[in-house]
Amino acid sequence: MKFETQLIHCGNSLDQATGAVSIPIYRASTFKQTGLGGNPKWEYGRTGNPTRLALEKLISDLEGGVAGFAFASGSAAIHTVFSLFSAGDHLVIGSDVYGGTFRLVDKVLKRFGLEFTVVNMQDLAAVRAAIKDKTVGIYFETPTNPLLELADIKQIAQIGKEHGVKIIVDNTFATPYNQQPLRLGADIVVHSATKYLGGHSDVVAGLAVTNDATVAEDLAFLQNSLGNVLGPDDSWLVQRGIKTLGARMRLHHENTAAIVDFLTQHPKVKRVLYPGLKTSPNYWLATTQMTGFGAMVSFELVSGADVKAFIESLEVITLAESLGGIESLIEVPAIMTHGSIPRKIRLTNGISDELIRLSVGIEAKEDLLADLKQALAHS
Ligand SMILES: *Cc1c(COP(=O)(O)O)cnc(C)c1O
Repeated sequence: MKFETQLIHCGNSLDQATGAVSIPIYRASTFKQTGLGGNPKWEYGRTGNPTRLALEKLISDLEGGVAGFAFASGSAAIHTVFSLFSAGDHLVIGSDVYGGTFRLVDKVLKRFGLEFTVVNMQDLAAVRAAIKDKTVGIYFETPTNPLLELADIKQIAQIGKEHGVKIIVDNTFATPYNQQPLRLGADIVVHSATKYLGGHSDVVAGLAVTNDATVAEDLAFLQNSLGNVLGPDDSWLVQRGIKTLGARMRLHHENTAAIVDFLTQHPKVKRVLYPGLKTSPNYWLATTQMTGFGAMVSFELVSGADVKAFIESLEVITLAESLGGIESLIEVPAIMTHGSIPRKIRLTNGISDELIRLSVGIEAKEDLLADLKQALAHS
């Protein structure tokens, strides 16, 4: 079955009880049991809910896992996955993971005795060198934010296998439409479904999927123990979003190709960061591990250009954090998403004051191009 058909028909796409083609929202905190004892399919809403399970089965099928889990946010999904580990365990973590993930690691999990080494995932020798006896996992994102660098999932998974450590990939930017890490050797995939999977900037949600039956059992236990579950209404919204992921992604890609082409030729643009650019150092890897290049583009204006004037002149493209929605969103990492990183470290990491991150939406591309053109004229 083609992936776009899977998006619509995988998981529990039909309500077994009625044949409804959209899974009902089962807004119930508890379920009647038919007798004492036994092993009822449904008992309590935190432990399991039919609407949530439909979403969990869907994402599991799409990522090629054995089980999926839906959480109150991407951050909750990530926290739950890290809760598989214990005080004294050590993890290797990508140097440019999502800011909230780094905060969780640095300000919360370290207090619980987990240890971390931050490594640039493009440097495989450094990944290998960072592994210690007590290393239990490697956690990273690809493509990264906001520099859109890629990490080689297969190679890192190979290193993980050699040392018996779990490979965890945050697949938020690529989505399973463009990249399926479990099929490349990863053990666990996490998502902020707030982004492309929800797709309409109207829900905060997280997902985790694994292809390891033991990990699946542990995640089910943790999800029930931590109680950070996604409610039935939001589960329904995310499932609805996923059904149109294919259609949205085609438009996202079409618009992004046109915008990248426009930006690379514009005299006010110093450089464009996009794994689908043939001149990108990530291009070869992108063509081997991804089936599409995604719709996140970063670019830098020439020095001396007025970033503030450019941003504030935009009329269609919206200034906002977040990404992956149908509307184009733009932001300046140095001031917004990455503002908490000290300037010196930020600059060393390649995030200049002129760097701009664009989440290309599905508006008519003519309108997006015209908007960028007129705003660049003001920069
Ligand atoms: C947004 C995001 C998260 C956090 O997800 P929330 O749903 O906001 O908690 C994690 N990873 C990446 C790559 C993200 O973009």
